Amino acid sequence: MNLFELTKSLMSIPSTSGEEESVGFWLRDHLRSLGWNVELQPVSDSQNNVIATLNDTPRVWFSTHMDTVPPFIPPTEDDEKIYGRGSCDAKGIIAAQITAAEQLRREGVTDIGLLYTVEEERASTGAKAANLHPLAAKCQYMINGEPTDNDLAIGSKGTFRLIIRTTGKAAHSAYPEQGESAIEKLIDILNDIRAAEFPNDPFFGETTVNIGTISGGLALNVIPPAAEAALAIRLTTKREPIEEMLREIVGNRGEIEVLSHSEPVKMLPVEGFDQKVVRFTTDIPHLPNWGTPLLLGPGSILVAHTKDEFVLKADLKKAVELYIGLAKELRAG
Ligand SMILES: [Zn+2]
Repeated sequence: MNLFELTKSLMSIPSTSGEEESVGFWLRDHLRSLGWNVELQPVSDSQNNVIATLNDTPRVWFSTHMDTVPPFIPPTEDDEKIYGRGSCDAKGIIAAQITAAEQLRREGVTDIGLLYTVEEERASTGAKAANLHPLAAKCQYMINGEPTDNDLAIGSKGTFRLIIRTTGKAAHSAYPEQGESAIEKLIDILNDIRAAEFPNDPFFGETTVNIGTISGGLALNVIPPAAEAALAIRLTTKREPIEEMLREIVGNRGEIEVLSHSEPVKMLPVEGFDQKVVRFTTDIPHLPNWGTPLLLGPGSILVAHTKDEFVLKADLKKAVELYIGLAKELRAG
């Protein structure tokens, strides 16, 4: 199966986070048909990571995730591009990595492994499970794939996701002195957060805050008794000082619930590859046992997660060459 066929085959199996079982089975069967040893590592009742090897001592691994964001968009194509969900994030990447690994194998390189995880788009439970796998200890270099426009990402920002909740006291809106507005408290807190100057980092760049959702209140003529907002912060420093700042800003006006977090990470720079820092996060912070991380993949993060997701066929082909080149460079080094 050629590179584009493989990309479209993977894309035609829906696999939004939590529903990766079918694509995992398909990938297992496909890799076995090529002669790989394939293990399904259970992550939940219906989710398995796919781990494939050619011998007992793979030193260089390719990895990315099998899940996608919703909704499912079936693959279509023209001469230049493959369109649809997962084209660049990340099924085209899986196809490019398998194609690269097969080429390396034809050249006699067999110390290569493949790791495909579940749940990357949510809580990275797949990566967290994979991190405990015994093969991790033998891995020297983990080449992770995410859409980096085929540049070698040498840093990625961290994330910090949280909910801020405020409570008040319901009352008739004509008698505001009888109540206390949770929404007004929340607005004050959010304004203070928007005005705050969070620390930045010369390598990773600017810390940014997105107030993603906001909700609360009962009716327009009732003083709102409860409100909440969900925030995603892109971290360029460690999380702790940012969390401290937030707790200070919120004070006793509300409560913070931390949903998840990952620290910013540095990846290995390799000479001869275009390099940059990316703002999104990956499975890499959850795979510390898997050797030195690298990050490279075809396609643009700017179209990932959108209804217009696509990958250039030329970029997929280029990614195969880059993966082969990286693996050779790392094995030689
Ligand atoms: Zn991704």
